[in-house]
Amino acid sequence: MLPVKVWTIRFLIAHTMATSSSADLSKAVKQQYMELPQGGTVQAMYIWIDGTGEGLRCKTRTLDAEPKTIEDLPEWNFDGSSTYQSEGSNSDMYLIPKAIFRDPFRKDPNKLILCEVLKYNRKPAETNLRQMCAKIMDKVENQHPWFGMEQEYTILGIDGHPFGWPSNGFPGPQGPYYCGVGADKAYGRDIVEAHYRACLYAGVDICGTNAEVMPAQWEFQVGPCEGIRMGDHLWMARFILHRVCEDFGVVVSFDPKPISGNWNGAGCHTNFSTKEMREEGGLKQIEEAIEKLSKRHQYHIRAYDPKGGLDNARRLTGRHETSNINEFSAGVANRGASIRIPRSVGQEKRGYFEDRRPSANCDPYAVTEALIRTCLLGEIGEEPEEYKQ
Ligand code: ADP
Ligand code: MN
Ligand code: MN
Ligand code: MN
Repeated sequence: MLPVKVWTIRFLIAHTMATSSSADLSKAVKQQYMELPQGGTVQAMYIWIDGTGEGLRCKTRTLDAEPKTIEDLPEWNFDGSSTYQSEGSNSDMYLIPKAIFRDPFRKDPNKLILCEVLKYNRKPAETNLRQMCAKIMDKVENQHPWFGMEQEYTILGIDGHPFGWPSNGFPGPQGPYYCGVGADKAYGRDIVEAHYRACLYAGVDICGTNAEVMPAQWEFQVGPCEGIRMGDHLWMARFILHRVCEDFGVVVSFDPKPISGNWNGAGCHTNFSTKEMREEGGLKQIEEAIEKLSKRHQYHIRAYDPKGGLDNARRLTGRHETSNINEFSAGVANRGASIRIPRSVGQEKRGYFEDRRPSANCDPYAVTEALIRTCLLGEIGEEPEEYKQ
């Protein structure tokens, strides 16, 4: 008979580990199949935002030929009752292709297709914020609005604990981790590297990456992107990150405050400019835009996370390089303000400004639309014009 102690350990192991995880399967064995010729066909993975406004879903179909433009892609559908998107009785939802990317997982000629979701009556689904955003972007096309978004995120183990943190405690306090190097400072760089290269392959406008202040927290930047392209490219970059993490057996969280207490939260700073702001003397236009933003703080807070400000309330405390959620503030090189004018922009008197309020889990379509409505369309008050009737 085995001593009691060994039995106890075996029991504990059996009951704390999942039966199996797809991340533990051999990627080398899978590779053999991925190298098989595909006989002129193309796999197109259709991707959409689900009913939570944060989650992404995907499914694949075979195409007979490589699609060159969005018009070459058929509409498709899915069961909305399984994605928090419709009642069971009327559950067919339409998938309308909107942007094509190269597929870095299955590689050429396969594609990733970002889609909009329409309801049975062909009206946009509740969490399809792209359609309205595109309409607003059309109105200001001649001002060439550019955006750049800084996506912060946290890598978690399958158990929901930050990746690389001691299982029953905390790492050393913040300080050495931001832009850090070394196994005791950079937690999970493999994921960051794989994601960066996958985005470049896909054709996502990713422009940089860095380790963040909290260990296991990272950032990538997308931009500058003009108009609706900002939302399209950020959503695709998020999808690719989820998919890379799946391969590594870890999970990405966009929660704005994954660990409470003395740990930085995660935001999605949004940098914005128009053609005029980028030209000589553009600082004047930047200051005018900030003046308009100062009169519409609550409207922006509602648009900057999927819960109308509740998520961001945990993050925008006025500490950890954030502003207070209840107050609007702006300043040159001020990382504790709602809006920051980068020092170089203050010096050159042209360029762009940064809105530091959006939460890491924001919908970029909602954020960019709100900036256009307030700064360029001159809307005032707490509700957009069309929503008033
Ligand atoms: P930070 O100093 O706030 O950490 P980052 O280097 O992380 O800044 O990100 C800067 C972002 O600003 C990038 O996404 C970049 O694409 C964007 N950006 C740069 N120039 C412009 C511009 N003229 N208009 C809008 N966005 C811009
Ligand atoms: Mn940054
Ligand atoms: Mn950052
Ligand atoms: Mn920033």
